[in-house]
Amino acid sequence: TAPQHFQPLSPLAQEKRVVLRNSGYIDPTNIDDYIARDGYIALGNVLSGSPEEAIQIVKNSGLLGRGGAGYPTGLKWEYTLKAQGDEKYIVCNADEGEPGTFKDRLILEGDPHSILEAMAIAGYAVGAHQGYIYVRGEYPESIRHLEIAISQALDYGLLGDNILNSGFSFRIGIRKGAGAYICGEETALLESMEGGRGEPRIKPPYPPQKGLWGKPTVINNVETLANIPPIFLNGPEWFKNIGTPTCPGTKVFTLTGNVINLGLIEVPMGITLRELVYQAGGGIKNGRGLKLVQTGGPSGGTMTPDLLDVPMAFDTLPRYQSALGSGALTVIDDTHCIVDVVKNFCEFFLHESCGKCTPCRIGNKRIVEMLERISWGKGTENDIEKLQFLGEHIKRTSFCGLGQAAPNPLLRCLDYFREEFESHVIEKQCPLNVCPMESPK
Ligand code: SF4
Repeated sequence: TAPQHFQPLSPLAQEKRVVLRNSGYIDPTNIDDYIARDGYIALGNVLSGSPEEAIQIVKNSGLLGRGGAGYPTGLKWEYTLKAQGDEKYIVCNADEGEPGTFKDRLILEGDPHSILEAMAIAGYAVGAHQGYIYVRGEYPESIRHLEIAISQALDYGLLGDNILNSGFSFRIGIRKGAGAYICGEETALLESMEGGRGEPRIKPPYPPQKGLWGKPTVINNVETLANIPPIFLNGPEWFKNIGTPTCPGTKVFTLTGNVINLGLIEVPMGITLRELVYQAGGGIKNGRGLKLVQTGGPSGGTMTPDLLDVPMAFDTLPRYQSALGSGALTVIDDTHCIVDVVKNFCEFFLHESCGKCTPCRIGNKRIVEMLERISWGKGTENDIEKLQFLGEHIKRTSFCGLGQAAPNPLLRCLDYFREEFESHVIEKQCPLNVCPMESPK
C-alpha cells in the first residue's frame, strides 16, 4: 500500500509523471519490479557507448538541475569528465531540508533504483567509480530503501565490479546528514562528508574541478538524477518536447499551507501558479482569499496574487520576486499577518545560519529583533527603513546562497505589503489581529 504522502493531488489534465513514473506503482524494495518497468536498460545502453556520447545525450536533453539553481546537468558532467584527477566522484544531494519540500523523499522511498541507475550512468560518463548519497538523517525510510536497493543491485551485478561485463565498476555508499539546512549547499555538504563543520567553501573552484577530497565531483539533486534513466530510454528529443523550450521536462511541486488539497504533483515546466493552486490544490481553504505563495521554501520567492499567471520555470519567474527553487509551494491565505509571516521565515534563517560570516549571522538576528519589536507594537517608521537597508546589505554581502536569499521574503513583502508594516508602527495596530501588539510578560 502506498504511504499516505504518495497520494496524488486531485487530477490535473497537465499531470505528467517522469520522475514519479514508478513511485506508488512498484514495490521499491523489489528490484524485479523496477526491472519489469524497463529499469537498468538505460544503464546497459550507456555502457555500450562512449562517455562522450552519454554526456551529449544529457546536454541535448536540456536538463537543468532540479535542486533549485537550474544549472545545465550535461555541462556539469562535461566539466567533470574533462577535469584532471586520478579519482572522481558522483554525489547525490538528498539532503532535502527546504521547509515544505518532500519530493526527494517520495522519489527515494518510492523508486530508489532509479537514483542508483542514474548515478552509475553519471559515473560512467565522467569516469567515476564511486558514488555517495548524502541523505537526510530524518529520512529513515529513504535510507532503508536505498540500503536494500544497493544490496540488490550488487547481487544482480548492476553495481560493483565489471557491471554487465562492461569492464566498468561503480559502487555507491550512503552518508547520513544530521539535520543542518546549510548542508544542502553543495560545498557545505562536501565539508560535512569529509568530517568537517557544515560550512560552505569559497567558489571557485567548483566541485567539478575540486570537490570531494579535492577530486572532481558531480553533485546532482535526487530529482535531477531521477530524470536520467527516462532521458536515455526515450531520447533527448522526447524530453525536450515536455515543458518549455528553454526549460524542458517536468517539475514536482509540493503544495502545503492553506489549500484544500495538500500533496505532490508532477507537471510540465511552464504551468502557472493559478493552475497549481486553484486546480490541483482545489483553491484556498474556507473560501478565503490568497495572500501569497512562498515558492521554493523560505529561500525561494514570494509570489503575490499579481503573479498567478506567470509560467513556472527557472527562467520565467522574475528574479528577486519569486523563484522556482525546489518546487515547494506554501500557500498563505489572507487571515495571516505579513509581519508574523515574515518573522517566521526570518527566524528560520536565524536558526539555520551556519555562523561563518557576519552579515548573515548578525544581520538575521537584528532583523528578527526588529520584527519582534514591530509585532509588539514597539516598532517605529525608522525600523522599516532599517529593515530595508539591512535586508539589502545582507543580500549583497553574505558569503553563500543562504544569506544571500534570506532577506528575499522580507524585501518582497516590504515592497508589496508596506501598508501592513506601517499599520503596525504608525497606528500600533495589527490589521489581522494576529500580533500581540504588547511586549511579552
Ligand atoms: Fe553561513 Fe550564512 Fe554566511 Fe552562508 S551566508 S556562510 S549560511 S553565515
